[in-house]
Amino acid sequence: MITEQRSKYLSETVKSIKPSGIRRFFDLASSMENVISLGVGEPDFVTPWNVIEASYHSLELGYTAYTANAGLPELRKEISRYMRRRFGVSYRAEDEMIVTVGASQAIDIALRAILNPGEEVIVVEPSFVSYAPTVTLAGGVPVPVHTYSQDEFKLQPEHIESAVTERTKAILLCSPNNPTGTVLSKNDLVKIAEVVEKYDLLVISDEIYAELTYDEPYTSFSSIESMRDRTILISGFSKAFAMTGWRLGFACGPKEILQAMLKIHQYTMMCAPTMAQHAALEALVNGQKDVIKMKESYRQRRSLVTHALEEMGLSCHIPGGAFYVFPSIEKTGLSSEEFAEQLLMQEKVAVVPGSVFGESGEGHVRCSYATSIQKLEEAMRRIDRFLKTL
Ligand code: PMP
Repeated sequence: MITEQRSKYLSETVKSIKPSGIRRFFDLASSMENVISLGVGEPDFVTPWNVIEASYHSLELGYTAYTANAGLPELRKEISRYMRRRFGVSYRAEDEMIVTVGASQAIDIALRAILNPGEEVIVVEPSFVSYAPTVTLAGGVPVPVHTYSQDEFKLQPEHIESAVTERTKAILLCSPNNPTGTVLSKNDLVKIAEVVEKYDLLVISDEIYAELTYDEPYTSFSSIESMRDRTILISGFSKAFAMTGWRLGFACGPKEILQAMLKIHQYTMMCAPTMAQHAALEALVNGQKDVIKMKESYRQRRSLVTHALEEMGLSCHIPGGAFYVFPSIEKTGLSSEEFAEQLLMQEKVAVVPGSVFGESGEGHVRCSYATSIQKLEEAMRRIDRFLKTL
């Protein structure tokens, strides 16, 4: 069968989605030698040993079957304690929480649980590349609301207001943000909450980088007055606990919404991987000291990278969280794709063009500093050399 004939079997929705723009750069970079990658969005640390051991141990004990659909009850209880202790939000382990296959699955089932065909979700851009396609796959319509470097990429409430229609169901918020590293303060969140209340919206609050804030204590959107009932809080173990490959996340929220999400989860996933759930339990009980150590290391690297970029004249705000910097490359006169491609070809440093994160990401590139100090220093030297050739 020729390709066009085969493609008639595909869903129109799937056909409408473009492959991730990050992929192309990874493919190119992985075919080259001696590349320093500032492209990947994951910790360079290996999961702490006690966490790995807890999962071995669970296998030795023969815990190889499915768990409860919503996740191991003892893990949910521990997540409940952890969220109260760390972020001051209270969720019942019994019916206000689901353990998921990464934060990614939690976002997917949250959207599928709330959206009717054609309903709109405001996606704050530049954003994590999965949001808009996941909204589309759930039958919804992603509506971008842009943030800008002059506001340090903070969402402006009046921009939400101008995007709201009678079909708007929810806003997808992410603080600390991927790719900009921007953290919304309590005051910023209060102003957003007023608009959420005014237009009767829900918020899917992706708080996966909540542990990784460097300058101010973290405020969860759900802790803002009257927002708990409107928030589906998404988090997980990938980033702060260096557990991307374990595929473990969770969602917390009002019972009715979480139970609707559980319906989708039980038919499509059954449960998150059992051995990863045992590992996550150990991470919560004994892992906080490792989180602090890793965070301190990211803080040092943030300082190295932001100073080096500033010296080169690539201006960037100091990102308050996550492990990304998002400098402006406008002064080079190159598009973000051209910049990333030429930098990779000439100096073998991989960064991600800002345009893949949405229109307002153009003019910037995302550099992840979740890599060793030595590699970061060398990458900065190479970027400096590259800029001097322009
Ligand atoms: N949300 C954001 C903002 C992310 O950056 C990522 C990972 N890059 C995820 C969610 C997905 O996390 P997980 O590995 O838990 O699926």
